[in-house]
Amino acid sequence: MITAVQKPFDEISEMVKGHDKLLILGCGSCVTVCMAGGEKEVGILASTLRLFNKQNNISMEIIEDTIERQCDREFFDAVKDKILRADAVLSMACGAGVQFCAEVFEGKRVLPALNTRFYGATEQQGIWSECCAGCGSCVLDKFGGICPIARCSKSLLNGPCGGSQEGKCEVDPENIDCGWQLIYDRMKSLGLLHKLEENEPINDWSTGRDGGPGKIIREDMVL
Ligand code: SF4
Ligand code: SF4
Repeated sequence: MITAVQKPFDEISEMVKGHDKLLILGCGSCVTVCMAGGEKEVGILASTLRLFNKQNNISMEIIEDTIERQCDREFFDAVKDKILRADAVLSMACGAGVQFCAEVFEGKRVLPALNTRFYGATEQQGIWSECCAGCGSCVLDKFGGICPIARCSKSLLNGPCGGSQEGKCEVDPENIDCGWQLIYDRMKSLGLLHKLEENEPINDWSTGRDGGPGKIIREDMVL
């Protein structure tokens, strides 16, 4: 899933300043799972903003709603009227949802309430970690199911570097495991250590972000 965290409240209150009617719009998918922008978070943010506005004599009508996904056009139908009546939409979706909302309702001010972080998984309640960088050419088969691009701080395909110490990454030894130590340990447990003796060729990064904005066109699905 795509993970995100809420922006600091000061940044949000400054961003929405001057709008008389604000719709806070949640997203029922990834950001609900990572507890950043679902129905519950919409309610909490709306209450906090109302209180802040009251304390600061700011007049602002705040409307709340949440749709299933903000990255799919069809789900906006349910809130179309609310969006059109609002001066601005404070979207609690990931960056893709915010942009798509602004595209669907061209001319409407759409503001981001979240900072989108990464593609990750839920390690345990309240802890999410990055697993994939969307490189467009998956090599997980070669590394025992651990991604060297997302989980090595330097995205090394031939690792580790000289900064790996006691299983920790030199970038932040307190908090970051060395991705290459994880790969080594996994390959060892799978009896596949010999595979790491093969050098990975220079990577073609053009299938990911370095190749410009990505687009997937499935001719068999396009109407
Ligand atoms: S190799 Fe690429 S697609 Fe596969 S998990 Fe890593 S970043 Fe994601
Ligand atoms: S210490 Fe490990 S994770 Fe950190 S950059 Fe070097 S190989 Fe990558």
